[in-house]
Amino acid sequence: FHGSSTWSKLLVVVAASSGGGLVAYADAKADLGLVPSQATEKKKVLVVGTGWAGTSFLKTLDASMYNVQVISPRNYFAFTPLLPSVTCGTVEPRSIVEPVRNILRKKGGMIKFWEAECYKIDQVNKKVHCRSDIGTNLDGHGEFTVDYDYLIIAVGAKPNTFNTPGVVENCHFLKEVEDAQRIRRSVMTCFERANLPNISEEERKKNLHFIIIGGGPTGVEFAAELHDFVAEDLSKLYPHIKNLVSISLIEAGDHILTMFDKRITKFAEEKFQRDGIEVKTNFRVVKVSDKAIFMTNPATGEISVPYGMAVWSTGIGTRPVILDFMKQVGQGNRRVLATDEWLRVLGCDDVYALGDCATISQRKVMEDISAIFRLADKDNSGTLTVKEIKDVLADICERYPQVSLYLKSKQMKNFLDLLKDSEGNHVKESKELDIEEFKKALANVDSKVKMLPATAQVAAQQGNYLARCFNKMKICEEHPEGPLRIRGTGRHRFHPFRYKHFGQFAPLGGEQTAAQLPGDWISIGHSTQWLWYSVYASKQVSWRTRFLVVSDWMKRFIFGRDSSCI
Ligand code: FAD
Repeated sequence: FHGSSTWSKLLVVVAASSGGGLVAYADAKADLGLVPSQATEKKKVLVVGTGWAGTSFLKTLDASMYNVQVISPRNYFAFTPLLPSVTCGTVEPRSIVEPVRNILRKKGGMIKFWEAECYKIDQVNKKVHCRSDIGTNLDGHGEFTVDYDYLIIAVGAKPNTFNTPGVVENCHFLKEVEDAQRIRRSVMTCFERANLPNISEEERKKNLHFIIIGGGPTGVEFAAELHDFVAEDLSKLYPHIKNLVSISLIEAGDHILTMFDKRITKFAEEKFQRDGIEVKTNFRVVKVSDKAIFMTNPATGEISVPYGMAVWSTGIGTRPVILDFMKQVGQGNRRVLATDEWLRVLGCDDVYALGDCATISQRKVMEDISAIFRLADKDNSGTLTVKEIKDVLADICERYPQVSLYLKSKQMKNFLDLLKDSEGNHVKESKELDIEEFKKALANVDSKVKMLPATAQVAAQQGNYLARCFNKMKICEEHPEGPLRIRGTGRHRFHPFRYKHFGQFAPLGGEQTAAQLPGDWISIGHSTQWLWYSVYASKQVSWRTRFLVVSDWMKRFIFGRDSSCI
């Protein structure tokens, strides 16, 4: 799991005297004395972020083994997959959040939480600099530093605007609970404004034009939610302006939902067409002003479209604190913080990164794949039999699902063709093949393999995996024999992180959902919507939020959505 020297360090008992200043205000006036004295003997684990990755780490971690502290600017966990439902009042914001302190209470009160933002990581002195918005009138202006032995970075990502002018000033994002609440108010404001007397029809139409930029799962789901809100609730409340409403979905690529199977993309595009949601593909937004969105298309050139409300949902970018940290650890030329398959940040010790803020380095994965081939070639002949190659590929696919997806794809046909003769027949399993040919094909895989998706599923599995590794450290110290190292010599204490894909949903409105489940099994329609309800109810972090979410759904079925502009 870790370099052996690092892990052996883990068991070195920290001298009790080193505990002073575990948590210290920046001016170092006093040790807060918040950490029990016996806890100073335990290693300090600092978790930054209480989203999917951080919370799943904390839930699984055996907190009695470490001195655990948590920092996050929000004192709750948010169930992000239901954020689009919050934008239209299908679900209330408080139903999808769980206070961090409720989660920590279940860990026996052993974990400390500070509501603050980490603005700098000092990996040389193993300190994290924090500032708290709620503490600006306190001594030290709410700034303090926290020491760590192990740092778990789980700060997520920020919306990516691609530096498009006017986006930050004029568009909504849909990333946080506050964003969803703002969108809900803004939708109602647009309706009330369009309803005012003495305004032109053109002005009413402009106010009721809702534009969503980005045809990924979030943009599509929000468009569908908004359409349902208008069709099922607002059209009854604003009958005289209901025909002036328009919803447009702008996508730079050829299609929406490109990460899904083509059948889902086709179904979604056709359904949106039937619902009157205008899908504009191959349009790239170049500027946003307070009145119009400017976009280009190879056929039309630049056009401007007036709008009432715009939501920007084109993917995620790296947070400033991570960009600064990347420079410190020699990753300044990368876009995303890179880790190895054990989630250790490349270029520094004792720091782990998981969830949306990091990615497993593809270069390391490719080195491993190359090494797997090398190890399989036990007699160094430079050849492997077809059967051995198939075993190697199966091993690779099991370790790296992202490669597995690629191997199954059509682009990978050339690679698999190497297992066939010139007439296209499968060659005998005992036939020897040149490994170099496969290595050449692998160079191609390197540039094509997609990184793990930035999803809650990946983040939660990573948090769970890392906590299990931390829990097993002591046992592994006593029984060090683990999986063989692929790179270098010796053995690892733990298996690398392996992602298990359980499928993905795309709610499309009108009580219809599309699902792409493992084994490329596709399911679309009303029954899949019920599957969606059951999965999302079961995935809630507590019985409290489960109850609240289900009762919100029932309330909506019975009374419709609330249209008040609070
Ligand atoms: P987050 O969950 O974003 O958590 C980051 C945490 O870090 C937060 O607690 C934040 O307050 C904290 N933080 C931020 N900055 C700092 C700082 N400087 N210092 C300290 N703490 C900080 N995924 C799915 O799998 N399925 C879905 O259906 C799905 N739907 C989605 C719908 C929407 C609208 C959105 C926005 C995302 C959706 N996702 C979905 C993606 C999923 O939410 C993310 O992949 C997931 O939240 C990533 O988890 P994380 O822990 O890395 O980051």
